[in-house]
Amino acid sequence: MQVLIRQLKVVTVNNSGVNRIRKAAKEGLCLGCMNLNDQLIRGLCSPCYQATRRLINSGELDEGSLVRDGRILAKSKGGRPATNPVTVESKVAKQAEAG
Ligand SMILES: [Zn+2]
Repeated sequence: MQVLIRQLKVVTVNNSGVNRIRKAAKEGLCLGCMNLNDQLIRGLCSPCYQATRRLINSGELDEGSLVRDGRILAKSKGGRPATNPVTVESKVAKQAEAG
């Protein structure tokens, strides 16, 4: 019998991934197709998110690799997104240090 489990692991976003995320966030782009979209799920428009989920679930794509390359955002911890400029800048700086 096979069962699907999910494991937590730490992934470091590489420099090109950080740059991709910054560009997409600044311009309101989907991380998948890089088209303008204001309704994003983990940084992806709905068609890109659904395609990505399908490929991850089928084992064709590795979620960790996608997060590392800035092609999907990590799952959020919930709550409202930060809007305070000091908080937002601090998070960007932390991501840049980590990457
Ligand atoms: Zn897209």
